[in-house]
Amino acid sequence: MNTIELDNQYVASTYKRFPIEIVSGKGSLVKDVNGKEYIDMGSGIAVTSFGVADDEWIAAVEKQIHSVQHMSNLFYTAPCANLAKALCDKTGMSKVFFSNSGAEANECAIKVARKWAAEHKGPACSTIVTLEQSFHGRTLTTLAATGQDHFHELFQPLTPGFASFPAGDMDALKKLCANGTVAAVLIEMVQGEGGVIALDPAFVKELAAFLKEQDILLMVDEVQTGNGRTGTMYAYMQYGLQPDVVSTAKGLAGGLPMGATLMSGKVKDVLSYGDHGSTFGGNPIAAAAALSIVERLTDDFLADVTRKSQLIRSLLEGAPGIESISGLGLMIGLKTTKPAAEVLAACRENGVLCLTAKDKVRLLPALNIPDELLIKAADVIKAACK
Ligand SMILES: *Cc1c(COP(=O)(O)O)cnc(C)c1O
Repeated sequence: MNTIELDNQYVASTYKRFPIEIVSGKGSLVKDVNGKEYIDMGSGIAVTSFGVADDEWIAAVEKQIHSVQHMSNLFYTAPCANLAKALCDKTGMSKVFFSNSGAEANECAIKVARKWAAEHKGPACSTIVTLEQSFHGRTLTTLAATGQDHFHELFQPLTPGFASFPAGDMDALKKLCANGTVAAVLIEMVQGEGGVIALDPAFVKELAAFLKEQDILLMVDEVQTGNGRTGTMYAYMQYGLQPDVVSTAKGLAGGLPMGATLMSGKVKDVLSYGDHGSTFGGNPIAAAAALSIVERLTDDFLADVTRKSQLIRSLLEGAPGIESISGLGLMIGLKTTKPAAEVLAACRENGVLCLTAKDKVRLLPALNIPDELLIKAADVIKAACK
């Protein structure tokens, strides 16, 4: 049996995979088992921040593999401590909890909010409010946080204590908060899985002011938007926010599993010994990889992410079959006249790998994708949309 046959027979059928087996790559180019080359416009769903098999990333990982690959959280290791400092230096946050995925980073955020609210406002204050069309993960608790009913149906009962409201509808939020039981509001600055929709800055400003006045925590899910993806270290920075908690994962370690929950001064001491943990969280290899990524996200580099975003948007804007472009930085959604799946298939045929989000075509190229590949990919995408 070949890989596709083996996978179809033995791997749980939870993913509708594209009919391609990728075997290698360099930067933003990947090769399939038949030697066909593709421009990767998905980077493993915003994970391989500097592309595939990036030399600096390999060097950071390799160095750590030869030192110590894992020691458990019962011991101190430098990559974990250095990464936490780097993340705090770049954000003004105070402490970090490390895990292995976006869902876990959000689980930690939710635990922080529940414990903080119980201690400061009483045990009845436990509700976490999220936005409709949000996506926060696949565990039973982060599914409860995900404001899309179709994710919930098959897995009842989910963790209680969650509610959602439509982005922009402050009256709906105020109603949810009226009885004083809301501990925190958790938002994505750009709803990724929800269709690459950036929140309206006026709504975000009003939301932040209201939460501050009510002493409700503002938590931002930067799992997909984080680590340079939108042209700033975190997307909330473009909205002038100072969140109480930030969760991130996907691109943080450039292709190794790592989640992080960043806590502001207000909540940095909420978790104490034994309150939370993760065997692999802060693993030295993942942390060394993440540190190498974070150190490369300089102001100049991030400005170039924004420039690349403007470049590809200008190439796609107004093209026949592209009705609108949404998103922020190198997180781009295309509303196309043709069904997104059809556009993706035509792109694959012509050597470009894209993704979908809801009914849109979604582009999440590596942050350092060369301009010439971006231009080539835009040509293929335009032809596929026509
Ligand atoms: C992908 C994603 C998650 C879930 O991350 P996993 O690593 O798959 O658990 C959570 N929130 C957002 C916004 C995401 O994009």
